[in-house]
Amino acid sequence: MTTPLSVLVTGATGRTGAIALQKLRQRPEQFLAKGFARSEAKVQELFGTTDGFYFGDVGDRDRLTAALAGCQALVILTSAVPQMKAPPEPGQRPEFTYPAGGTPEQVDYHGQINQIEAAKAAGVSHVVLVGSMGGTNEQHPLNRMANGNILIWKRRAEAYLIDSGLDYTIIRAGGLQDQPGGKRELLVGKDDALLANPPEGIATAIPRADVAEVVVQALLQPAARNKAFDAIAKPEGTPGALVTTDFAALFAQTTPGL
Ligand code: NAP
Repeated sequence: MTTPLSVLVTGATGRTGAIALQKLRQRPEQFLAKGFARSEAKVQELFGTTDGFYFGDVGDRDRLTAALAGCQALVILTSAVPQMKAPPEPGQRPEFTYPAGGTPEQVDYHGQINQIEAAKAAGVSHVVLVGSMGGTNEQHPLNRMANGNILIWKRRAEAYLIDSGLDYTIIRAGGLQDQPGGKRELLVGKDDALLANPPEGIATAIPRADVAEVVVQALLQPAARNKAFDAIAKPEGTPGALVTTDFAALFAQTTPGL
């Protein structure tokens, strides 16, 4: 019997992070999975217990270091979260802001650097980072949201991870859907080519549960090491689509570098 891989999931109260942590915990023979979150109440509500959780803000490297002690892998699923300023007047677009301390520069750049450096100091060997497609386009509308440049900061943190010397897997998801996973064919690409030329005109989207499964498989499959890729899913029931089950073959299509 082999020893389970000790892994920390940050953003574990997030919509994808919670699924990823649950999936890892469903494989106790392979993983000893811990969570990192900032709200004890939210953890209690989502998981019914705070056992196996560490608490802190990604701005606090000491908290991250403590959580990562003894870990071999880190899954980064934190993200700055924009908030609507006020319900828009009829016919008006909603306006967004980032909370104090929660801008993309603070969370998606400095917060991720803190996680990467804390992982390095703890002797972690592999970091799986979930990011977003669209980062090759500085004019992307998400960058203009509350002037946060969120995709620019995320991509800078991805480059930092690649240069860190740690093994990495960077999964840049398309638009996230709250749909069941394991029912679609997954597609991988690079440099937003899937956004520019979506195959058969499909929406460039992917269920959060499928992203969480890609995270789990990335920790298991050597072919996911030192790769960065975009990921989307064909809509369920697409004629001719084959539900993805062979993740080694999927990762074999991906490449190293940003
Ligand atoms: P999410 O639900 O927004 O979760 C974000 C997580 O980050 C939450 O757990 C949040 O904690 C945590 N967090 C934020 N600031 C933090 C801080 N300062 N310290 C510690 N934790 C902090 O995430 P998601 O929608 O599942 O997205 C997962 C990833 O995919 C993100 O990187 C996102 O940008 C990316 N993505 C999203 C889309 C989309 O369509 N939305 C598309 C492509 C990629 P709390 O629970 O306490 O708030």
